[in-house]
Amino acid sequence: MDGDQWLTPLPQHVRNSSWGGPEAGAELGRICFDARRRAGFKVASLDVLRPDGFLEAVAFSGGPEGDPTAGGSFSLALARRVLREGTAYGKFVFLREEDMAPDLQEAVRGYGYVPELPKTDDPWRWRSLDMLMAHLTDSTGRTRALFHLDEPVDGIRPSPEGLAQIADDLELLLQAVITAVDREELTRYARLDDTAREIVRAASGRLGQSEFLEVVNPRLVAGFRASGAVVHLYDDSTGEAEAAGLGVDLISALEAATRRAWGSRTVIVVEPDHVWGDEELHRHHRVALGGYLGDVSAKELIVVPIGAGHEAMGMLVIVRDGRDRWTENESLSALGVGHDLGRALLSTRAHEREHQLISELQQLDDYRRQLIATVAHELKSPIGVIAGHVELLDQLPGVPASASASLQALTLSATRLDTVVRDLLLVGRIGNPETPVGRVPVHLGDVLATVIGDEAARAAEHKVTIRSEVDDDVVVHGDPEELRQMLANLLSNAVKYSHRHGVVDLTLRREVDQVVFRCSDHGPGVSRRDRSHLFDEFFRSLDPVARQRLGTGLGLAIVARIVGRHEGRVDVDSELGGGSTFTVTLPAAKKSREV
Ligand code: ADP
Repeated sequence: MDGDQWLTPLPQHVRNSSWGGPEAGAELGRICFDARRRAGFKVASLDVLRPDGFLEAVAFSGGPEGDPTAGGSFSLALARRVLREGTAYGKFVFLREEDMAPDLQEAVRGYGYVPELPKTDDPWRWRSLDMLMAHLTDSTGRTRALFHLDEPVDGIRPSPEGLAQIADDLELLLQAVITAVDREELTRYARLDDTAREIVRAASGRLGQSEFLEVVNPRLVAGFRASGAVVHLYDDSTGEAEAAGLGVDLISALEAATRRAWGSRTVIVVEPDHVWGDEELHRHHRVALGGYLGDVSAKELIVVPIGAGHEAMGMLVIVRDGRDRWTENESLSALGVGHDLGRALLSTRAHEREHQLISELQQLDDYRRQLIATVAHELKSPIGVIAGHVELLDQLPGVPASASASLQALTLSATRLDTVVRDLLLVGRIGNPETPVGRVPVHLGDVLATVIGDEAARAAEHKVTIRSEVDDDVVVHGDPEELRQMLANLLSNAVKYSHRHGVVDLTLRREVDQVVFRCSDHGPGVSRRDRSHLFDEFFRSLDPVARQRLGTGLGLAIVARIVGRHEGRVDVDSELGGGSTFTVTLPAAKKSREV
């Protein structure tokens, strides 16, 4: 029931003249002029429904003193009651003064233009409170505007046929009203919607917060037709609000107000003598805010809450010179901008955290590399000393057989330790992005032949056959020693993990502009779970068969790094129990014949 609502006075917080710009008002005024002339009335006026739910008088034509109610706000409830109680003629509804209840008569006196007419009992004559209005709706039936005609030129109430004729005659003009209202609202929406889109676009640029705000600021200024824009976040203030001259007290009052505004989805509009949208700010800080407006020579501050989800994050303070008064429709779009800013800021923060994490991880990686290099370096000489002395002792005459066995065990361990240390030093060297990679033509077939030769003794010991097929003239650009190490690691693994009497197949092929090396064995294979960690440093499979073979877990990590440094890739194709094939692909040297 609207019954009581329309009788209560309009609340203090209704911001008059806040629907559209002067151009739209003038255009609608011209339409009113045409309409009243065509319908034979002295006065025509138009009220548009604002997003805050109030009607605003935006255009007026005729009457003795021009527009007495321009910019005024009226309750829609009152208009609804007139629409309900009057008689309909097309879009128009006519309600006679004598048919209005006394309370409605009272209310109508305060609504819009009421002509001073001599009292009469003549049922044919137009009376002061007679209401003839058209209800203008959009395609969904939502009220957009109310169009009023008042005082027929001849002073006579139109007959029902006359009213139907007026409704017919004005049909097109009323359509033009809706078009003009739409256009005014849409241009304001569109400007800020573009701004919102640009904010979202800027946020996808993976910028940090301050760069993002720098990029977005000029777009906010343009979108809000402002002279300045300040983004102030509660928890991470950039100090911009202070720099813009807002004192500490005002900042904290605005912070509190925008937290409330975020909850109620309101935009706060500060004008020289009134703060709209937050009663508390109006009551306690109106004067200070007015003073601030004077200081920055502005007419309006638009304060938009920034946030995401339920969380208010800060505020956007827009400084405007008031050339074009801020409208309620813009407030609606501005809330969207505050929302997009909030989401964008959250994502810029996520990017910042990501960057920070990456640099921390990099630092950790540098530290680890340094630690490995230092430890390996420190171990190198003692191992050399041990090996040297063991050799010396072994050569002494008369070493008892029992001691000789121990010396042999010591030699074996020292050799293993030496391999580990050498691998560690290599990992450190090739893992350092600053270590340059050699770039000379390397005939990979020749290197592979050497590697096979080096592995022959161990293969024979394990009764493993190595077979190879090598294309002629396979050349890559790279570091010969690193490439040798890579081939040796793959082959020695294949031999090491092969069963006795197993076969290892090696192929080296030139395929168009690539060189492909394959190393296949019929050993224990690698489980799916282990495959993803195979190239990690110090990774050793949990498979008990593979575990039986000695190893450090560095061989494949070295392979992966060397291949990476040569802009190639290494893949593994393996099933547990089904053998393994490692494939290395490297860019072939361009003119292999000439190198
Ligand atoms: P390791 O010194 O332990 O051999 P690698 O880095 O060369 O270190 O290999 C890492 C792990 O990958 C090995 O512990 C082994 O479990 C598995 N692996 C490597 N090559 C093979 C292979 N040819 N067949 C089966 N498992 C392999």
